[in-house]
Amino acid sequence: MFKKVLIANRGEIALRILAACKELGVRTVAVYSEADRNSLHVRFADEAVCIGPARSSESYLNIPHVISAAEITDVDAIHPGYGFLSESANFAEVCEASHITFIGPAPGVIRLMGEKNIARGEMEAAGLPVVPGSPGIVENEDEAKRVAADIGYPLMIKAAEGGGGRGMRLVRTKKDLVQAFNTARGESQQAFGSPNVYIEKLIERPRHIEFQVLGDSHGNVIHLGERECSIQRRHQKVIEESPSPVLDDATRTTMGDKVVEALRKVGYSSAGTVEFLRDESGSLYFIEMNTRIQVEHPVTEMVTGVDLVKSQIRLAAGEKLGDVVGPFQSSGHAIECRINAEDPNTFAPSPGRITTFRVPGGPGIRVDTAAHADAVIPPYYDSLVAKLIAHGRDRAEAIVRMEGALDGFVVEGIKTIIPLHKRILADPDFRAGNFDTQFLEHLPPAAAK
Ligand code: ADP
Ligand code: ADP
Ligand code: MG
Repeated sequence: MFKKVLIANRGEIALRILAACKELGVRTVAVYSEADRNSLHVRFADEAVCIGPARSSESYLNIPHVISAAEITDVDAIHPGYGFLSESANFAEVCEASHITFIGPAPGVIRLMGEKNIARGEMEAAGLPVVPGSPGIVENEDEAKRVAADIGYPLMIKAAEGGGGRGMRLVRTKKDLVQAFNTARGESQQAFGSPNVYIEKLIERPRHIEFQVLGDSHGNVIHLGERECSIQRRHQKVIEESPSPVLDDATRTTMGDKVVEALRKVGYSSAGTVEFLRDESGSLYFIEMNTRIQVEHPVTEMVTGVDLVKSQIRLAAGEKLGDVVGPFQSSGHAIECRINAEDPNTFAPSPGRITTFRVPGGPGIRVDTAAHADAVIPPYYDSLVAKLIAHGRDRAEAIVRMEGALDGFVVEGIKTIIPLHKRILADPDFRAGNFDTQFLEHLPPAAAK
């Protein structure tokens, strides 16, 4: 096992990784930006190094700064968490060259999956159904027209290196194609440093269903069931649950087997998530793979009892999947609500100082957070303040526990989307498991007080 691990992240996920390291008896190094000087991950780590100013490009995304911190503190490995450098093949390579283990899959695999159009081709060749679309990057307007004529409207133009719900453009009719294509390329260049886009057929009223996988460096891969993440705003997840209310056992088994087989072929060796869209007929189509720990990993942990972050670290240290995970049995149902510092109606960010912070507890309740009373939510990073997870023997019990926990969760000083979560949980269609990715667009607005 590693002696010392550097955590190249902040917020709740930095604390989550810290906890896993402590359980494994591994010493920890936190890195932080000037804006995070007083954060809990800095306080709880064995050592902490400031890596630059608030802007993430100058701190959490600055590879030389992170590597210098790792070298000064003499760590064996770096855990990148999610976001930031977690899906940077370049960073994973620099770690390797510096003789530091990157806790994640091999750089080549990160690169393969990071170009979403290449990942599509690779996964299709490995036996997964993919959303119909362009065979690769769409280079110019003429090619866009040809692809569009071939797959039909409506369609999505997507940034090859997109992520976090950004870099997607819906095109309903032929007359909008050329302009949308050029805008999408420009936006992709701006946001991701590459103009490369590809085209996918729009799946109407889809459900987002994803499989959690774990692989080791000895060629073994397993899956730990699926998560349903269809409650989204702006293509970003707001509520996730496991199992999916709509996936039947037969589909779970056949698709799970196909996922495992495909990832064995690419030599996948860490935690990862394979994302699908499910159309109204029930068919699943691959959209992308995230080669990192996912924000919503706790719902899978609650249902399977497997500690995914601890597993990631042990697998990176070379242990075998059979020793790390062993036999497990899924039980009950888990739901996660992302508590973002945002206006619950407009989703406008609401950074600032938290005055009151009261966290719920009780049977089946888990809260992952780095927030506390008097903490400041800075405007520079994502708006996640806490993840509230409820587990129950079945979905109905998980929902009731979640409702109680939302009532007991008090955050003052900033706005959060707790009121929105209460409305979602109370909605008859949500309770019946009857929803798709457009659910929030149709949710009746909050009653005026
Ligand atoms: P998950 O797939 O785990 O649900 P999210 O899409 O919510 O993850 O993203 C988690 C965090 O990572 C967010 O802060 C998001 O903005 C960031 N992120 C994800 N992908 C990218 C990317 N390609 N470029 C920049 N940031 C990203
Ligand atoms: P990101 O890398 O930003 O996570 P994804 O490709 O995973 O992007 O897509 C994020 C979300 O966008 C999906 O969960 C879905 O709601 C929507 N989406 C993406 N592709 C399509 C598509 N072809 N048809 C319909 N919705 C889509
Ligand atoms: Mg995605």
